[in-house]
This record gives sequence, structure tokens and C-alpha cells, in this order.
Amino acid sequence: MFSEVYDVIVVGAGHAGSEAAAAAANMGSKTLLVTMNLQNIAQMSCNPAMGGIAKGQIVREIDALGGYSGLVSDTSAIQFKMLNKSKGPAMWSPRVQSDRMMFAEHWRLRLEGTPNLDFYQEMVAGLILEGGAVVGIKTSLGLKIKGKSVVLTNGTFLNGLIHIGDKNFGGGRSGERASTGITEELIQLGFESGRMKTGTPPRVDGRSLDYSKMVEQPGDEKPSKFSYLDETKPLVKQRSCYMTYTSPEVHELLKEGFDRSPMFNGRIQSVGPRYCPSIEDKINRFADKDRHQLFVEPEGWNTCEVYVNGFSTSLPEDVQFKALRSVVGFEKVKFFRPGYAIEYDYFPPTQLKHTLETKLVEGLYFAGQINGTTGYEEAASQGLMAGINAALKVQEKESFILKRDEAYIGVLVDDLITKGTEEPYRMFTSRAEYRTLLRQDNADFRLTQKSFDLGLASEKRLHKMEEKKEKSLSFVDYLHDTSVTPEFSNPVLEAKDSAPMKQSDKIFKIFSRPNITMEDVMEFPGVNEFIADNELNEEMLEQTEIQVKYAGYINKEKNNADKLHRLEDIKIPQNFDYSNIKSMSYEAREKLNKIQPVTVSQASRISGVSPSDISVLLVYMGR
Ligand code: FAD
Repeated sequence: MFSEVYDVIVVGAGHAGSEAAAAAANMGSKTLLVTMNLQNIAQMSCNPAMGGIAKGQIVREIDALGGYSGLVSDTSAIQFKMLNKSKGPAMWSPRVQSDRMMFAEHWRLRLEGTPNLDFYQEMVAGLILEGGAVVGIKTSLGLKIKGKSVVLTNGTFLNGLIHIGDKNFGGGRSGERASTGITEELIQLGFESGRMKTGTPPRVDGRSLDYSKMVEQPGDEKPSKFSYLDETKPLVKQRSCYMTYTSPEVHELLKEGFDRSPMFNGRIQSVGPRYCPSIEDKINRFADKDRHQLFVEPEGWNTCEVYVNGFSTSLPEDVQFKALRSVVGFEKVKFFRPGYAIEYDYFPPTQLKHTLETKLVEGLYFAGQINGTTGYEEAASQGLMAGINAALKVQEKESFILKRDEAYIGVLVDDLITKGTEEPYRMFTSRAEYRTLLRQDNADFRLTQKSFDLGLASEKRLHKMEEKKEKSLSFVDYLHDTSVTPEFSNPVLEAKDSAPMKQSDKIFKIFSRPNITMEDVMEFPGVNEFIADNELNEEMLEQTEIQVKYAGYINKEKNNADKLHRLEDIKIPQNFDYSNIKSMSYEAREKLNKIQPVTVSQASRISGVSPSDISVLLVYMGR
């Protein structure tokens, strides 16, 4: 049935698998996507939303690299918000509320429209290996399919165990069976595995809710979008979300179920996401808080199903139901599905190289939740990187690695493989030391050329980015070179309570003042003409504003990143043995031997490796 040898076989069509398959196929590799249920491609297992703080930046990066997550998010969005708009641009984070069904449908359509990509529905039960390298997969029905590389993206399915109150049963997600066989085989091959858990709230019937008692949360008045391409458009119509709160009464009702909670009676032992706790965890840990926010989020344009964000729980269904009925606006609530928790196997990501290829088995890549991460965006970006690198390896080309000052994706991968993770890893802006450089507005500047060189970004995309860059930079130059006299500037400055000028000065300098906006600058003679003559669009104007206002911060971070590159340039030989470096701490030697960092810079980021260990290492590297 499968006589040909695929270049890349991707196991699992979640967010990681879908991006991996698209990238490999778009790079010309003959690719097969094998998944347990083709109806559930890119299923949103939890909240119907993409982006958010730091995650929105990742979606923009995926888009700039030629991935599909941004395009699909745009076409299935029901609401758009730019979060943190009151803070500096490094913190601006796009987020959409998604139509869950449309999201999965649009992903499937895009994948079906991708050349070089075949599909097959079955559970993969094992790998075929030859001399330390993977050469294919085995399915649960005994089919053998040959491939030069395999990307595993099993998500929450590996020996998945679902918990609701005191009941538990095997499953990879509600209504879907767990995946068995792979963990056991990988352990036999020498891999280390662990167990994590996550949870999800109940979904309810929107027709049973009283929205008049809740606070409306509309989308942005001027919505933007994720993709840099013109192929998608900002939303014209949006759906609102709503906000309500729990209360002491709700908390008391929830506590009635604590003795049957798998979280508290010891049935769930594994670690869950600390920043995304269940409602029972919240009322237990923050006992002094008498209420918690709940966001009531529609699941799509045409469905009445509603997601109760903030009420993730694995308490018994009757307890969930009774407690939710005491929430304001939920007095007559009807359930569609109860909340639940799930435990699953993961593989500590320190077993991977920067390419996401495993150190133990050549040609085998891991991406997504299998690496101990959580979140669609984290998964999708790893899938993209694994798919790209698997394709490059088969094509015998140099691997593709993003540095920490180039992309959040670079930070994510480097954190995972260097530090590992003991709890579900999600991205935060605080994880990136160069977040002023890694903004959502400039992911195209940072990554489009790279993507074009890989064969992913089209020439059209590249030209669009170059035009934006050239035009916004020429406007910055114009503002640097053009002066304005007090006669024109002072009325504007006075209206903004900004100190008046005594003599002519460059517009750039005036624009750098904190409360002076692009609209103010447009009142100076010649500026509007320059904008019109050069056909500068809104995106270019925004880019110019950021380049002027944050020039100091941006330059400082660029200098710091350059310093890092000096350490990044000092390579450590492969399989370097640290055991005999007695002047290094025992812990450092042990960690360095295990992780085998590629550069001195990577070594310095390993927990337990101190600056003095690095000084010793530098001497060994001849510095
Ligand atoms: P998944 O989306 O899980 O996809 C895995 C895919 O692999 C599926 O298509 C599956 O069918 C397929 N597959 C698995 N094994 C095999 C096999 N052997 N053979 C063939 N196909 C296989 N994230 C958050 O950020 N916040 C949350 O609050 C949150 N809560 C969650 C709650 C629950 C109950 C669940 C299930 C997930 C939750 N997540 C949450 C996580 C989020 O859904 C994942 O991070 C994301 O979907 C991971 O993407 P992935 O591609 O790695 O895996």
C-alpha cells in the first residue's frame, strides 16, 4: 500500500504536526501526515483562541516564516484584540477569539491544498530503526511505512488518562482514544520520559446564559490581524466576549467536591501548568480571594456553545454544575460538556538538539506538547522548526536554527533543549532577554528573508517586507533630516503640554518626546506631502513611529545582543568530555556532559553552570 519512501513522516495532526507537515511539504519534501483522526486536524483542545501575550508574537513569527497558523487564525477569527496597547510596542500582543470548527476546517483545507503532502488515518504504534537511525513507522494495524525522517507530535495522547472527579479513563482528549506503544518503545531505546497534566473547563449552552448580568468585552474598534500577507483582511464584524465572577458561595459549593477531586486525593500526581491553574487550585491556593474572574467566550459564529475561561476543573460533574449555577449570569446554565483533567507522557526536551532532532536516534524529531510545552502557539512553532529541519536534513542542507535575539521561537527552543522543563512550559515575554528586538510588528523584518532562503516565503512576501522596510526607514531619515520652526511646532507642543521650542529643531527630536504622536507630527509642514508622495500605509507609519520613539532601547539591545554573539561564536567540539575539568563544579560537569552545549553561550544558560565555570570553560576553549 505504501511502497514509496517518504522524505518526512509526521505523526499527529495537532498544531505541531500540521505546521511540520506544511513546512516539509512546501520545501519540496515528499511528506506523509499520519494521524489518529483526520476529522480532528489542528483541533483546539482547550480554549478557542490564538495569540495573547508572547504567544501572539510567536504566531506573527510563524507567519513571517511561511507557516499557516497566522493565516488560519485570521480567517477563523471572531474577535481581535491587541493586548497591552497601553504599554511599549515590545509588549503589544495580538490575540484572536476563534471559531473552533472553522479553525480546524481551514487548517485541513490549507493542508489539502499543499503539494507533496499525503494523508493517512491510523494510530502509529512504533518506529522502524536501522543502525541508530529511524527509517519508518509501524501502525497499530501492522502497516509499515518507510521514511527518511520522522517527526513525532503526539500532544497529550501518549498514555493519556482523563480524570473527572473519582472517575478516570484512557483518552488523548475528550472523546478520543489514547496513543499506546510509542512511549514504551522510546524508553527501551534509552529515552527518559515523564508525566504532566493539564485541564479544561466545561463548555455550556450560550442560550441558557443571562448576558445582561455580565460585563461585555468587545473586540478592538480598529482590529488588526496576524498575517503579513494581504491574503487575509481584518475583521469587519466581531463577536463580543463577556466577563463575570465566582463568589464565596461558588467556592463553598466547589469545596464540597474536594474529597472526590483527583487533584487533592492523590490520584493525579503529575505537574500541571502553574500559571493556568484549575478553579479548585485557585480557591485552595488563594484562599483570601473571594472571587475569580471568568471570561465567557463564544466558540464560533454560528454555534451557541460557550467556553468558560477561568473555570478549568476536574471536580465531579455534579459539583461543577452546581457551582457554575451559582455564578452571576449562569443561574440557568445547561452543560454541553464537563471540564476534565488529562495526564500524559512527555519527553524531557534536553534530549534534543537545537534542530529538535533527538540526540539518541538520527532522523527522529519531537515537536509540541511531547516536549513538555503547553499551548497551540508553542506547539505550532516547534512543529514548523522540526518540519523545516527534517526537510533540510533529507536534502543534505545546513540546519536552520533561530538565535535568542532573532525570535521568540529561538528562545523557546533554546530554553527547552538547554534548561529542560519540569512543568508545562509556556512562553512569556519575560523569558526573552531581547524583547525590544522581538516585537510583533517586526517579525517580518527578522524572519522573511530567512524563510525566503529556505524556499518557504514567496517572492511576493519578500518584496512586501522589503517595501515596508525601505519606506519606513526613508521616512525615519526624512524626520532626522527635516527641521521645523517654533512657529509651526509650538502650537502642537503647547496643546500637548510639552515644553515650547525657542529655535528650529529636527522633527525626529520632537517626535521622540513621549506624548507627541504621529498625528501631531503630521501637522508640521511637508510631512503629509512626504507620506502621500511615498505612499506610506498605516503599517509603515506605525513602524516609523516605533523606530523613532524606541531608537535608544532598540540600539541598546542590539549592542547587548552583539556581545552575546561573541560567546555564541565560541563553538565547543562535539562530545566534549567535561569529567576531568576538576576546576569546574561537579554539578556543572554533570550538566554539561548531559546537555552537550554547542557553544559557550549555550553552556552559560544551563542551570547549575556558574560564571566561574564559564571562565574555566573559556580557558579550555583557548580564550
Ligand atoms: P495535540 O494538539 O494534542 O495533537 C496531537 C495529535 O497527534 C492529534 O491529532 C492526535 O490524534 C495525534 N496523535 C497522537 N498520537 C498519535 C499516534 N500514535 N498516531 C497518530 N496520531 C497520533 N494549552 C494551553 O495553552 N492552555 C490550556 O489551558 C490548555 N489546556 C488543555 C486542556 C486539555 C484537556 C488538553 C487536551 C490540552 C490543553 N492545552 C492547553 C494544550 C494544547 O491543547 C496543546 O498544547 C496543543 O494542542 C499541543 O499541540 P500538539 O500539536 O503538540 O498536540
